[in-house]
Amino acid sequence: MSAEQKNILVIGGGISGITVALEAAEAGYEVTLLEKSPSLGGRVAQLNLYFPKLCPPFCGLEINYRRLRSNPKIKIHTLAEVTRITGEPKNYTATVELKPRLVNEKCTACDACVAACPKERPNPFNYGLDQTKAIYLPHEMALPMRYVIDSEVCPGVSCGQCLSACKYQAIDLMMKPQTIELKAGAVVYATGWKPYPAEKIDNLGFGKIPNVITNVIMERLAAANGPTQGKILRPSDLKPVSSVAFVQCAGSRDENHLAYCSSVCCLASLKQASYVRSQYPEAKLYMFYIDLRALGRMEDFLEKIKAETGLELIKGKVAKVSEEAGTGRVTVEAEEVLAGRKRRETVDLVVLATGMMPELGANPPLPAVRDEFGFLVARNGGPGAAGTAKRPADVANSIQDATGAALKAIQTLVSPV
Ligand SMILES: Cc1cc2nc3c(=O)[nH]c(=O)nc-3n(C[C@H](O)[C@H](O)[C@H](O)COP(=O)(O)OP(=O)(O)OC[C@H]3O[C@@H](n4cnc5c(N)ncnc54)[C@H](O)[C@@H]3O)c2cc1C
Ligand code: SF4
Ligand code: SF4
Repeated sequence: MSAEQKNILVIGGGISGITVALEAAEAGYEVTLLEKSPSLGGRVAQLNLYFPKLCPPFCGLEINYRRLRSNPKIKIHTLAEVTRITGEPKNYTATVELKPRLVNEKCTACDACVAACPKERPNPFNYGLDQTKAIYLPHEMALPMRYVIDSEVCPGVSCGQCLSACKYQAIDLMMKPQTIELKAGAVVYATGWKPYPAEKIDNLGFGKIPNVITNVIMERLAAANGPTQGKILRPSDLKPVSSVAFVQCAGSRDENHLAYCSSVCCLASLKQASYVRSQYPEAKLYMFYIDLRALGRMEDFLEKIKAETGLELIKGKVAKVSEEAGTGRVTVEAEEVLAGRKRRETVDLVVLATGMMPELGANPPLPAVRDEFGFLVARNGGPGAAGTAKRPADVANSIQDATGAALKAIQTLVSPV
């Protein structure tokens, strides 16, 4: 078997892709890990804390980064997108476009260039809630720990103000895109998920009412490296909150939006209730839900958070969310099933628990079987798939699934046919 045929190509550098890469490389196989953004980590890096232990996501990521750095069998390309894959199992050829970072490996992450840069851009890491300069570090735990320039807003050499600020000759505004070809015996998609666009849910007010946010935005508001330095504040006036309502299944289990349950949103909202409680001991907390989903040992987490936060659970699908005139407060209305009455609560902040949908677009470089919702179905003889590219899942289940996907990829390389 040639060296190329023992290579596994992993597309997506979130926790699932990182796990596939590590498990396969530690079993002795060569791996190329491709990430389209400037850093590994995926959406886990954007969480404030993660359940069930409520530890910062960077703890887990750092351990994995160390394993990645110390394994010579893994090659990593960031800013990398596969445009085409030809061939068949054991013998694929992938064409990969590498976008120019415009910052080379001499970068020490000293941050001096940022003050010199006059251009700003919305910060996708904080879901556009704040800005970065055109030259920026994706986040504090980026891998590689290197700045990057957004070429869509940077005018290039006609500006060049960062060049003189950088003592290390790390900025190269003439860096060009590259196209490379990679051989691989197996391909695994670990392309992850994206949040359902909440503005599509007409009756819940996102995008129209400033103090209606989504669960992913709540993660960034609560994070010390987020737009409010970790303080949970009303977006309309940056005032502290005295009451918060979580609206579960926002667009989920709804034929008009996502017909399925994303399985982690209930636990995510419970976790976020604990964020609010730790900052506001007196705040009133409500959760409107259809069914609470907490499988297996997550039931213990649910009971613990309920007891610790004093969260009031209200069984009922929210029919309407509206803004109170002149106060910025938000009224949530639902039919309370257990009490058999209408329930209205007016609060400072509403958090929509929106679901997860597949990030992979309709025309992937190597065709793959999809389910009715666009999640990947891994089949023998086709590309592999790992983690939330296959279904909504938490980190622990994504890691388990990715370990299985690594084994499947190895089987593709070593099977006799
Ligand atoms: C509000 C909320 C809170 C959550 N909180 C928790 C929690 O507390 N605990 C927990 O266990 N789970 C939590 N989760 C779930 C957790 O976010 C996922 O389990 C985790 O992100 C899955 O990792 P992944 O690698 O499968 O996908 P992702 O994190 O989405 O990573 C996929 C990676 O692939 C890259 N990529 C995508 N397409 C391409 C492409 N074509 N080419 C190259 N790269 C590509 C992306 O840029 C990304 O880096 C939460 C989810 C939500 C919605
Ligand atoms: S590009 Fe230069 S100035 Fe900017 S962080 Fe890197 S080393 Fe520092
Ligand atoms: S050249 Fe680009 S990155 Fe450098 S200072 Fe100007 S706008 Fe910023």
